[in-house]
Amino acid sequence: MPDLDLVTSWAIETLTHVIQTLMLLGFAGLLRFYFKSYQQGYLSDWSIACLSYGASEFIRAILTASALIGTTYPEWANQSLYSGSIFLHYVALTYIALGAFNAIKERDPSFLTRRILLLVTAAAAILTVVWMYSNQAGELTVFESELPRFVVPALLFLGISLFMFLRIPPGFGPKIVAFAFLFLAIKNLILSAILLFTTTIYLDWIISAQGLFTIVFLTIIMVGIVIWLLDSERSTSFYAVQRAEYLHTHDALTGVANRHQLVSKIPVLVDYCRSNNRHLSVMLLGVSRFKSVNERLGIRGGDQVLKEIARRLQQFNRKPIAVARISGDVFAVMFDHLKSRRHILDLAKELQKEISRPIEVNQRQISLSVGVGISRYPQHGVNAEILLNKATLALTEAKHQNASNITFYERGMDDAFSQLIDMEPILRKAFKQNEFVLYLQPQFDFDYQQLCGFEALIRWQHPERGLLSPAEFIPHIEQLGLTELLDNWVLERAAEILKDWQTRFNHVWPIAVNLSAQQFQQSKLVEHLTELMDRHQLDASVLELEITETVAMSDLSNGMDVIRRLRDIGFMVAIDDFGTGHSSLAYLRSLPISKIKIDRSFVSELQVNRTDATILKAMIRLAHGLGKRVIAEGIETQDQQDILQQLGCDMMQGYFYSPPIKLELAEQLIENELKLGREPLPSSLATA
Ligand code: C2E
Ligand code: MG
Ligand code: MG
Repeated sequence: MPDLDLVTSWAIETLTHVIQTLMLLGFAGLLRFYFKSYQQGYLSDWSIACLSYGASEFIRAILTASALIGTTYPEWANQSLYSGSIFLHYVALTYIALGAFNAIKERDPSFLTRRILLLVTAAAAILTVVWMYSNQAGELTVFESELPRFVVPALLFLGISLFMFLRIPPGFGPKIVAFAFLFLAIKNLILSAILLFTTTIYLDWIISAQGLFTIVFLTIIMVGIVIWLLDSERSTSFYAVQRAEYLHTHDALTGVANRHQLVSKIPVLVDYCRSNNRHLSVMLLGVSRFKSVNERLGIRGGDQVLKEIARRLQQFNRKPIAVARISGDVFAVMFDHLKSRRHILDLAKELQKEISRPIEVNQRQISLSVGVGISRYPQHGVNAEILLNKATLALTEAKHQNASNITFYERGMDDAFSQLIDMEPILRKAFKQNEFVLYLQPQFDFDYQQLCGFEALIRWQHPERGLLSPAEFIPHIEQLGLTELLDNWVLERAAEILKDWQTRFNHVWPIAVNLSAQQFQQSKLVEHLTELMDRHQLDASVLELEITETVAMSDLSNGMDVIRRLRDIGFMVAIDDFGTGHSSLAYLRSLPISKIKIDRSFVSELQVNRTDATILKAMIRLAHGLGKRVIAEGIETQDQQDILQQLGCDMMQGYFYSPPIKLELAEQLIENELKLGREPLPSSLATA
């Protein structure tokens, strides 16, 4: 091959630069277009790379074309244009690298990484330019001075291709791109070696023709990217369709069927049961107080609990024919082999037992209780929505009676439900219009023979129905989820009364308030109470908190912790309705409470049932042994009072001494006490 004369060499070079410019600008536009449609970050990076590369090639085309037609620029202009083309070339390389990272890792490099890489690029470009122009003295050959232009991209392309081969995503497209980068790297390395070590006469040819190779490899890269993109879009949309189909019928969190799937499955099951003379039982399991589980364990902990419930239901050994999660804390389980109510009830109990086994989340054991609502085919309906609605009504009723009740749907529940819905605006209005009143029931100390405190009991002064007792509205408040409103109102009101007594009488008789289950399980209860007392400048010892045994023991370790914290701050904590829970005596030892309040049922049975007196005696003795005080509630007669006093009870509360009374009457009682020179008993007596 003959020596290439200068003009031909320039002509070839100009041509390759022009072709590369056109191709690269075309690629840049194409990638930008794809980026707009697919929003993949690497497309944007590679589009900028092509634009930059194209601009660099354009400058080179101008330089070689000028040389070809004999236009001469001042040296500084020449050098600036050349330096600019090198800078743009390096920017392009940086964006190629960024795009490759983005494509393989499927995440955008951070802002900082981008900045650092661009700074490195600028530094590398400056060094390259300095290297080239330091050759003014002619120490380097033309080829040596051109070296960085090939070596730097070679190393980068090598890096990218190796990176891609190591973590290559599946598919033909990424492989093509990785190979093209590898070939570009090899081409540049071979070229660099030739420039450095040989003096072949074909050097001019090689340098001019290498641009053609670059064009070929760039085209291959582009084709690879397009295939890659189309492939990945196809698999993304395939996955998206599959996921959408899955989510349409499954609960994303637990993987069991969702309400939609259940509703479409029930007709099939009903048909099957009809033709095979079978009965279908729909059981809805509602986790009690799941909100407080979420509060205690965090949303993630709550999710784990739900997953565990779903797992237990799916693996339940009595083979449910369907398991679904139909709302946040409600699961549906269906059976087709249960004929009698007795069988259904037994199985529902087994289910409850299965769910209430402790669940471990973040090294904490948590025990749940579930209410069960049951509807049946054919007795309660043939249609999916009807069966589910009736089971929901039964569940609402179950929860209303007791957190872990099992209730079958019954006629009339529908009416109760619509009544409940009608109650909501009325109750909210009652809060707004201040229709609630705190009644106070005095408590009497046997040893000191005087008033020792009050229990706050809420009443609703209904504009039409008159004074309503808690039993008539608290269940509605609970079912409508308005408990927090009521709890806060009671606490605020009690604190206001106490504060008022402090200013007016200069003495405060303790008031006991009833804490609801939700309130006791609220994660911020201690902070809330402390804030309340601070705000009213009250000592914690004047507020007594009554919680029922079942609430205190539903999550024993957490419950004990809350009670301990409350007591540390100085609040008095009493166990209300003591003796009605199943294992009161066994747990009495471990509960850090100050007082037990013996339930009314024991008191009313006293005269008829001697065993109750024996149990009471044991309870009182044990409580005293543990340094706790004992109050009996519901004392209605002189006899009851005498027996309880004999049994060693410390205090009493009941109609015999006084029914719950209005605030004004309670204040008269206080004034009387003060007149008689009786002051509130020292709080140490109450807090054992
Ligand atoms: P509790 O805390 O066990 O309250 C004692 C209940 O026994 C009160 O009924 C009281 O009026 C009644 N009682 C008192 N002495 C006698 C007596 O000698 N004989 C009879 N037969 N009954 C007596 P009330 O006020 O209807 O309250 C019922 C339940 O409602 C309370 O039981 C408590 O659990 C709940 N409650 C009342 N007020 C509130 C409140 O402000 N917040 C919360 N969360 N619950 C409340
Ligand atoms: Mg009470
Ligand atoms: Mg009670």
